[in-house]
Amino acid sequence: MGTEPEKQDKKTKIRVKMKEQEPAERARNFREVPYGYTPEEAVEEASRCLSCKKPPCREGCPVEVEIPRFIGLIKEGKFLEACYTLKEKNALPAVCGRVCPQEIQCESRCIVGKKGEPVAIGNLERFAADYEAEKGEVRIPEKPRPTGRKVAIIGSGPGGLTCASDLIMSGHEVTLFEALHKPGGVLVYGRSSGCRR
Ligand code: SF4
Repeated sequence: MGTEPEKQDKKTKIRVKMKEQEPAERARNFREVPYGYTPEEAVEEASRCLSCKKPPCREGCPVEVEIPRFIGLIKEGKFLEACYTLKEKNALPAVCGRVCPQEIQCESRCIVGKKGEPVAIGNLERFAADYEAEKGEVRIPEKPRPTGRKVAIIGSGPGGLTCASDLIMSGHEVTLFEALHKPGGVLVYGRSSGCRR
């Protein structure tokens, strides 16, 4: 049996594992395999973050999400605010929390990862976005003054949607064109990303 400090050290080195369906269960359905964090699990995982002043994780994020800020809000139980912070830089946090290769981006730079498992930034991003959707309090950022310019985007997959979001937030009017029946591209017609973890 380890001593209390040893136990504590071990706890901070290991991330909170996301629970998932048992193999026998998931073999009989097409639902997402990982369940996502509960609020308690999210707070516990967020508490592993050191709130670095010069956060290297942020440099590893292609869209420069304010990672310590959104994780700090989760730590305080301010889950909706955490999601709104994510959406300042990323229109699709629920998607990115699931499919971004965090292990070679933000999480690969995490300071905590030098002595243990890095903070589960992707899992926390997914949690905050799912929480917002579950609560039905989805906030759409306020649009700036229109520039009068119009932009057409061909394809409504994640790339097209992100591009549309950034252009709208720059004041342009956007029309998305999609060849298939529903918008969303790989998000609608691709394989389930839930098989990844
Ligand atoms: S590098 Fe890791 S510990 Fe530091 S702010 Fe980013 S997630 Fe938190």
